[in-house]
Amino acid sequence: MADEKKVKKPRGIVRLIPGKCIACGARCQTSCAKDAVEMNDKGEPVIDISKCIGCRKCIKVCPVEALEIYFTPEEQKVLAELATQAGAAAAPAEAEEEEESLDLAKLGEYRGVWVFVEHTEGKPAEVSWELLGVGGDLAKTRGVELCSVVIGDKVEHLCQEAFTYGASKVYLMDDPVFHYYRTESYYKAVCHLIEKYKPEIFLVGATGLGRDLAGAVATNLATGLTADCTGLAIDERGFLLQTRPAFGGNIMATILTERTRPQMSTVRPHVMTMPDKNVARKGEIVRESAPFKEQDFTTKVLEIIRDSRVDDVDVAAADIIVSGGRGMAGKENFQILQELADELSGVVACSRAVVEAGWMPVERQVGQTGKTVRPKIYIACGISGAIQHLVGMQSSDVIIAINRDKQAPIFEVATYGIVGDVFEIVPAIIKRIRDLRAKKAAK
Ligand SMILES: Cc1cc2nc3c(=O)[nH]c(=O)nc-3n(C[C@H](O)[C@H](O)[C@H](O)COP(=O)(O)OP(=O)(O)OC[C@H]3O[C@@H](n4cnc5c(N)ncnc54)[C@H](O)[C@@H]3O)c2cc1C
Repeated sequence: MADEKKVKKPRGIVRLIPGKCIACGARCQTSCAKDAVEMNDKGEPVIDISKCIGCRKCIKVCPVEALEIYFTPEEQKVLAELATQAGAAAAPAEAEEEEESLDLAKLGEYRGVWVFVEHTEGKPAEVSWELLGVGGDLAKTRGVELCSVVIGDKVEHLCQEAFTYGASKVYLMDDPVFHYYRTESYYKAVCHLIEKYKPEIFLVGATGLGRDLAGAVATNLATGLTADCTGLAIDERGFLLQTRPAFGGNIMATILTERTRPQMSTVRPHVMTMPDKNVARKGEIVRESAPFKEQDFTTKVLEIIRDSRVDDVDVAAADIIVSGGRGMAGKENFQILQELADELSGVVACSRAVVEAGWMPVERQVGQTGKTVRPKIYIACGISGAIQHLVGMQSSDVIIAINRDKQAPIFEVATYGIVGDVFEIVPAIIKRIRDLRAKKAAK
């Protein structure tokens, strides 16, 4: 029997429908991964047909349906032939729909929301439980199971803890090969589980380890990953809406993973609220063996040595934060903030301007490129309230802002605002606290 040569289905190329473009601002151009769209003087797209691959991304983002797919007469002939072979006289548009529904059917094989449980030698990272909180909401909306992935050495206790925070099932890989985190062993283990059980959503903490792992997993599975999400929700089609700051924090972008699974997101610690713990909750443990052996890895972790230069203060874990900005006017002036923090049993943090000036170490920076904090009280001293700072602290329970400029944007998120000079107000607060304490002690 002669070999039947497989005919490749033409994808067509994009063209502009004359008179329809409203020059909305080059959305079609930015959506094109192949640089096939140039804009003319009128702000209308000009398609470079030598580059266009007919992916239809520009068509999807066009708000006025001014773009369409065009098939050359030869391509139309091929499409008609293919349709006849398939036993149906499918028109190009129908062929496209068929392709899309096939894709969607494939995506439908993926079900469930998974959360990676990060730990350091068995001690869990709290962000894992925060993710179980938001993961539970997503699973409920989708009507699917909320599961966790626990990988490590002697880490079964983490499964029970995951149940108490809402997981109903935990996929456990417990093996000495996982004693220390190594990118290769962990990403291969996670990919093995994902390929076998097919979750639709996979959430990982945006910590050093989580970022490393999520990137490796997404690359290996050739799926989408949105880093540092600040909001997660489900749209009417059941897709994950992943919201995060973009363009230097000046806009919030919502990102979708439309054609691949799982939909992967990382979320920073303290961005999502901690769910209630219910110690009575139980679940199912699915035990899986590691799909490799120690001998398969060339990288060995011999010892972990703590960097003694790293600042010991964890601002992200503090209940009370006294934070200073450029308005503090110098490194030496942070002493008064430290005094106030000591009186309140809190810690001192700062804005990026302060780190850039070399007044405080980067570990104390709050904001988009620093830590996300959610303390009971955040006292912002001489901080203007740029959006990149606000995204890191606006979920604090109580925000007290001290700024001499009453128009400063920090006052828009403040619970209490004090318009005045930090060098008068902070010492006055310290004095008042000390006086009240002395009075109480004298009673
Ligand atoms: C991509 C990107 C990421 C960024 N990430 C971060 C981030 O993670 N964190 C962050 O903080 N910033 C970040 N920034 C920088 C951010 O845009 C601001 O430049 C920065 O937050 C400003 O710091 P500030 O409020 O201390 O200084 P300024 O904006 O200079 O504000 C100083 C404030 O102090 C007040 N002031 C001055 N003297 C006194 C006084 N004696 N008493 C009372 N008030 C006084 C002034 O009125 C002013 O409001 C980022 C920027 C970009 C582009």
